[in-house]
Amino acid sequence: MVYDLIDYDSEILSQEIPLFDFDNPPTDPEELAKNLLDTMRLHKGIGLSATQVGLPYRVFVMEGEPAFACFNPKLVDVSEEVVSLVEGCLSYPGVAVPVKRPAHIRVRFTAPNGNTMTRKFTGMTARIFQHEYDHLQGVNFLRRMHPVHKEKALRQLKKYTRYLKNQQR
Ligand SMILES: [Zn+2]
Repeated sequence: MVYDLIDYDSEILSQEIPLFDFDNPPTDPEELAKNLLDTMRLHKGIGLSATQVGLPYRVFVMEGEPAFACFNPKLVDVSEEVVSLVEGCLSYPGVAVPVKRPAHIRVRFTAPNGNTMTRKFTGMTARIFQHEYDHLQGVNFLRRMHPVHKEKALRQLKKYTRYLKNQQR
């Protein structure tokens, strides 16, 4: 099944989400991961956190080869080198602005089957991981933007919202 995306101003998007308990899972992690992946693909996203569909679980899915799910993700190490890349977000339709973040990261996360692993990511993979990790910390990408880019993002969001309203008429 696919989930509905919630509005960007929903409370859950500013909450830090507690660890997913694999010993006593609140929901089937394999099914949850599959549904999140289906939802991400339907909306043509490259990353999606559970909170973006209103679910209080510490997990996100992201594109890769193949796409994968990260439960209880952790940033173990981040590079001093930062890069600026254009980011979008399924919770902020119509927005695409540059954001600076560490270029390389070392991370730990648990797969839906309960196996925990450590990985090094760079490029877009590192970028998506950090953006999605932020969601689970209750941080949206507007907070990572230079003020000028944040203003631009808010203008884009407004424009898109207006466009949607006109479509519905
Ligand atoms: Zn996002």
